[in-house]
Amino acid sequence: MQVKITDGTSYIESLRNRGLKIFLFGNEIDEPVDHPVIRPSINAIAKTYDLAIEKPELASVISPFTGERVSRFLHVCTSTQDLVLQNKMQRKLGQLTGTCFQRCVGMDAFNALYSVTFEMDEKLGTSYHQKLKIFLTQMHQYNLVLGGAMTDVKGDRSLFPHQQPDPDMYLHITKRSEKGVFLSGAKAHQTGCINSHYLMVMPTTRLSEKDKNYAVVGSIPVTSKGVTYIYGRQSCDTRSMEDGNIDVGNATYGGQEAMILFDNVFIPNENIYMDGEYEFAAMLVERFTTFHRRSYVCKSGVGDVLIGAAAAVSEMNGVPKASHIKDKLVQMSHLNETVYATGIASSYQGYQTKAGNYQCDDMLANVCKHHVTKMPYEIAQIAQDLAGGFVSTLPSEQDLNHPEIGKLLKKYLRGNADFTTEERIRILRLIENMTMGRNAVGYLTESIHGAGSPQAQRIQIGRMMQLEYKKRLAKVLAGIEVDDSEVLVNELGDYFERVFKTS
Ligand code: SF4
Ligand code: FE
Repeated sequence: MQVKITDGTSYIESLRNRGLKIFLFGNEIDEPVDHPVIRPSINAIAKTYDLAIEKPELASVISPFTGERVSRFLHVCTSTQDLVLQNKMQRKLGQLTGTCFQRCVGMDAFNALYSVTFEMDEKLGTSYHQKLKIFLTQMHQYNLVLGGAMTDVKGDRSLFPHQQPDPDMYLHITKRSEKGVFLSGAKAHQTGCINSHYLMVMPTTRLSEKDKNYAVVGSIPVTSKGVTYIYGRQSCDTRSMEDGNIDVGNATYGGQEAMILFDNVFIPNENIYMDGEYEFAAMLVERFTTFHRRSYVCKSGVGDVLIGAAAAVSEMNGVPKASHIKDKLVQMSHLNETVYATGIASSYQGYQTKAGNYQCDDMLANVCKHHVTKMPYEIAQIAQDLAGGFVSTLPSEQDLNHPEIGKLLKKYLRGNADFTTEERIRILRLIENMTMGRNAVGYLTESIHGAGSPQAQRIQIGRMMQLEYKKRLAKVLAGIEVDDSEVLVNELGDYFERVFKTS
């Protein structure tokens, strides 16, 4: 029986004995909770629950549905302050875990769906919004984890879903009954899916009329019949299966991505929030990606850890005062704060939707995520620079503990005498973990591709950059066009409306 989750421990217990079908290294996993490769990703989500106890004002809210305290990851934002607090919570969790804590996709999904279902109902007379609220109430009652499942495997990228030679390249409806629909297909790179209780499945792209069967949104328990998970390998993942806890770099926390296969998975009518309304797919994708691209301020929290590691290793190497080292730490901080600045600005510039909830600013969200596709790489490059070559050539923990060579290694790997050799090695291993190992998956590669690859943000920025308006500004000042200031002052377009909003 489901009981309300109150902290990290009860969250971890809620994942036991669920009988999920999970494959990893060619084997079916009995109990993911106890698997050494999977457990760090579970610990990262558990931390979101513990933070809600340690800092309730930051990581929890009073549910408008139940009147009880629940995770902020389950909250529909009803003010810009709510949007901002999501970002502050994300930065803090990045700092505390040094990795991806996996809960933002679900949070961003229902926040986007909240307004999209409202506008669908208004236009079409459907009742999706009310159904979504009932589902959210159930999530709040038990304080559960919702994962979002958007990215299809996509097959031939030049073809619409209905044009694919294999229809399963995008998740789609295969059959119907009076009680609901059945879905087949596959979702790739699904963050935290195995650590969730429910998944929100959504289309990944704008759709045409012929793609109606692909225009489906619904919530399913992760335990649904017909669902198979295939765990994604991460760089150096088997280190967490070795003895010891130094070489893993971050022994406690890690991220998780898996592929999800759907074989005629049933969704009952009450959990369906889009069924054939293909014309709303683009609106959903855009609102979701706006939320999610701004959620990438999480990387500024992870960046804080890496900057700290770079400063610490400089001390351990004996060069904390060298001016070029300080300058590089300043450079790392400048990059890191630039990521944070654009994300939090997107939240501060949020606006109310017709449904009453708040949506963050799309231009700044895309700029934030686009920074994230590059700046963590620059930060990581400087961290490796400051670490020195040992970041990639250190002997193993077993050699360090070896009766014959261990002592010699401890002698020769010593830096600044204020620190032990093990301390220096631990920091070097953390930098390795974040720039080449397990958590580089989250800090670097996911920074490129998560919430859409770089070109997806450039397309959105291009759509919103209002060149005609800007050309007129220039032409008026250059004396080419006559100033019709009424128009230049008042016809601003969505983005500048928000920039110049005075209340
Ligand atoms: Fe959240 Fe960041 Fe992980 Fe995405 S990458 S789920 S935004 S922590
Ligand atoms: Fe992600």
